[in-house]
Amino acid sequence: MSLNLPFDNTYDKLPDRLFARQEPAKVADPALVIYNRALAHELNLTGNASNAELAAIFAGNHVPKGASPISQAYAGHQFGNFVPSLGDGRAVLLGEVVDRNGARRDIQLKGSGRTPFSRGGDGRAWLGPVLREYVVSEAMHALGIPTTRALAAVTTGEDIIRQEGAVPGAVVTRVASSHLRVGTFQYFAARNDRDAVETLFDYAVSRHYPNASTPLEFLNAVIASQARLVANWMGVGFIHGVMNTDNTSISGETIDYGPCAFMDRYHPETVFSSIDQYGRYAYDRQREVIVWNMAQLASSLLILENDQDKAVTAFTAAVHAMPAILDSAWLNIFRSKLGMTRDHPNDLGLIKDLLATMTETSADFTNTFRWLSTGNENLKPAHTQAFDDWRQHWSKRIADEDQPEEQMLAANPAIIPRNHLIERMIKQAQHGDLDLLRQLTNALAQPYVSDPNFDSFTAPPEPHEEVKATFCGT
Ligand code: AMP
Ligand code: MG
Repeated sequence: MSLNLPFDNTYDKLPDRLFARQEPAKVADPALVIYNRALAHELNLTGNASNAELAAIFAGNHVPKGASPISQAYAGHQFGNFVPSLGDGRAVLLGEVVDRNGARRDIQLKGSGRTPFSRGGDGRAWLGPVLREYVVSEAMHALGIPTTRALAAVTTGEDIIRQEGAVPGAVVTRVASSHLRVGTFQYFAARNDRDAVETLFDYAVSRHYPNASTPLEFLNAVIASQARLVANWMGVGFIHGVMNTDNTSISGETIDYGPCAFMDRYHPETVFSSIDQYGRYAYDRQREVIVWNMAQLASSLLILENDQDKAVTAFTAAVHAMPAILDSAWLNIFRSKLGMTRDHPNDLGLIKDLLATMTETSADFTNTFRWLSTGNENLKPAHTQAFDDWRQHWSKRIADEDQPEEQMLAANPAIIPRNHLIERMIKQAQHGDLDLLRQLTNALAQPYVSDPNFDSFTAPPEPHEEVKATFCGT
């Protein structure tokens, strides 16, 4: 094989109750669907592998030299209910590499067969969710929002059975600054395993927050990263869909793209996930839920403290401070979306008025902000008096800003991965047509640039194209 992955593994050196050694399953007929050469370069992968060789590696048929495949243990609250044992039920961490910037990155195969954590599942993934994760996570990165990345997608040559019937099996290679989750801490805290929580704490501190020296400082650092992350999601209309604590990263990266979606029409209560019956993870509730998730992390860290009363008080205060941190990050993001750099007491009111008008008129989230940034009338929402009035107020407000247009163009993407396009791309890929996959990946790589070649991707869906529900990645 002529792909060299310079593995430098650390997680597999931790006590072995943190993971299970697990080889990826061999599959019938691996074929490369898409490979991220720019990311491979960033990760220091070298060599001239053929597509067949790449497919063999990223399907799990050929375990590259230096890999040390493991599945990680974690627990988690799923829709509020604690599940003490989840873990990588269909994922294998091949190992870690140190990238060109000196950052340690995990390389993980997802969809690579059963593991000791599979419970009733088949350990597989199908092409649809694999390509959704590939395209949406790469789009998230291009938008400038912390996220896991996608290095490769391959098909396995084996059909698997899902709601949709028999569908092509696939594997996505995910790259993360680590796969530590809130649920990783919960797994060991729930077992009263103080040593393991301490090991994880030391590991997470050295990998992600080297300036934190106490559990409280660590908690505060994770809270700050997650507040920034969720504020960023809100700024681009992203709905994660399954913000369970096992899908909440310690690093502050977006992780686990399941039934996620970008909103077309603005409404704060938007939900796409077919499994989210009560709207627990609706667009606007993400900011409350992340605080709840951080409270779960806080609980897991308590085991590290000798003086419980003192720790409970301090951790509670840290969690209670989070909404204000998030609100402030949110306000800054929406301020920059509207070209407002200077602090002005009525900015929050102005933003809220706009969002209220957008809700009433079902305005397209992305295009409304892009219209305000570019003046492109094609992007304009349905005309109403309320919009006109609002625009007058806003024009007055930004009159004394230096270069509001420049700032707005950098804060308001022209293009997002719209649901109906993702669905169309998946259908075509299922029939072996990868054109739309390639076009979308190209278009989404520079989301803040208006490119007339991609105008068809910036239009909201026609009523018959609208995607009403998205399904979990399983
Ligand atoms: P998710 O909803 O994808 O975040 O997964 C929640 C849990 O279910 C994790 O422990 C996964 O590893 C596990 N899981 C999801 N899909 C499968 C599958 N097809 N086979 C085995 N385990 C799975
Ligand atoms: Mg998950």
